Amino acid sequence: MPDWTYELPPIPAQPRRVLLFIAMESEAAPIAHALRLEHGKGRIGQTEIELLSPGRDDATKIDRIGPVYAAWALTRAIAAQRPDLVVNMGTAGGFAAQGLGIADLVLARDTMFHDARVALPGFDAVARAHTRLSPSDAQLDALAAAIDARVGLASSGSSLDATDGEMALFARTRTLAKDMELAALASVCAAERLPLVSLKGVTDLVDHAHAGGEPAHEAFVRNLERTCARLAEAAPALLAKLC
Ligand code: SAH
Repeated sequence: MPDWTYELPPIPAQPRRVLLFIAMESEAAPIAHALRLEHGKGRIGQTEIELLSPGRDDATKIDRIGPVYAAWALTRAIAAQRPDLVVNMGTAGGFAAQGLGIADLVLARDTMFHDARVALPGFDAVARAHTRLSPSDAQLDALAAAIDARVGLASSGSSLDATDGEMALFARTRTLAKDMELAALASVCAAERLPLVSLKGVTDLVDHAHAGGEPAHEAFVRNLERTCARLAEAAPALLAKLC
């Protein structure tokens, strides 16, 4: 029995239309530039690339980060655009205990909601939404090799920090990275039977912050530009390999 509940379809050999989901404008701008997207649109060979961001909300004028807006934006865009591949790029907290450092890259093999705790059989699995992305290790390893990324579990929750219980779960599952959107995107892709590729750049070290080191939000702000530059550098190589 695999330890995930859901498995997404394989990455297509030649996608026609790729939706590129990026949560924050400061993450999206350097990546869009590196991919030469104009007004969020571009092309690599025969493949159309379309940038998708949930935007800013009216009340705060702040980027709509987090799982709810990720699922909302992706569901709408899938209905309108009918992509055959979804790609997600963005920042994440990384785990120094797993050998990760600032600006390192993680290509997600699987994802789940690490803050979903439902002590009811069946409902637990639905809430946790543990989802395997590409079913092929060879496919993931080849993609990761092209951009010098690690392959493993990138987990999601609604918080930037982590509880003691979540830290124990991260250690037990050898989580490489944690973000706030990927598991929501994967759940939508599972429901829509769409393949998903996700690349995370490390802005902060979760275990350092939890042990009293630099708090995640401070490290995030300090490293955002550098990590986004690393993601932007990897973006053309990743998309070229996918298309
Ligand atoms: N702008 C805020 C932080 C944004 S929230 C600030 O200035 O503090 C962090 C965003 O980056 C989310 O979209 C999330 O996906 C990602 N992220 C980076 N580090 C993270 C971490 N340690 N835990 C969860 N999400 C993280």
